[in-house]
Amino acid sequence: MADRRNKRGIDRGDPVEKQRMYKGEILAALLIIVLVIGIAIGVNQFFYGFDLPEIAFAGTSVAESSIDTSQGKAGFKQSNDWNLILVNRDHPLTAPFDGELTELRYGAKVDSRIYPDLQDMFDEMRADGLSPRVIEGYRTSEEQQSRLDSKISEYMGYGKSREEAREMALQWEAEPGTSEHELGICVDISSENGDNDSANAVWEWMDENCSRFGFIKRYPRNKMAITGVRGEQWHYRYVGEEAAKEIMDKGITLEEYLGAMPKH
Ligand SMILES: [Zn+2]
Repeated sequence: MADRRNKRGIDRGDPVEKQRMYKGEILAALLIIVLVIGIAIGVNQFFYGFDLPEIAFAGTSVAESSIDTSQGKAGFKQSNDWNLILVNRDHPLTAPFDGELTELRYGAKVDSRIYPDLQDMFDEMRADGLSPRVIEGYRTSEEQQSRLDSKISEYMGYGKSREEAREMALQWEAEPGTSEHELGICVDISSENGDNDSANAVWEWMDENCSRFGFIKRYPRNKMAITGVRGEQWHYRYVGEEAAKEIMDKGITLEEYLGAMPKH
């Protein structure tokens, strides 16, 4: 280092030598930049590998969700039917749930109006040899807030800033007021023992048959750009038989069915 400084001092005034020195320094600097970027990408992929493109996507949606008000997309009007109310990042709940809840076998609760169809569906699934279980039903907005908070802490534990952690957490947990679980008419379903094979069997059955009971698969993986939610194989929402059949038969989302496409 001392040698180099010395040499540079001696060569000062010699334009050719000076240019050569600068070239060397620029090359070294470029090399360091490339190395640093390479290491950063490597580390990021190691921890978050497959999530990267989805993080980029979620970033945009998060920014929009914080700007949007309950008005949602211009021109879209909420249905008067209780089972067709849209709740997503653009369309938050306008009032907290105040209906009647029915508690299920393992403690999850649902709007009592969807209970008979849910029960019929489970009876038929059991008759087909499956053992479904409702993991989650109705959630208060306080419960939603605490789920979001703990997800944020989890990402901060990986060294993310609060802002970054919040953006990442919002891919998994909705902002309070924008989770369909606060409506009480959706359920997260798995199997009794929760192992992969039996849960997959339940979801396959659901995808085939849920519309007959008025349910839809709410967040298909290939519809993230519309729903703003990662694929959630386990999340089914009640919309009533007529809407459910059209949505599931056409392979569309509730947003598409209602004509409430996202703004971007
Ligand atoms: Zn869910």
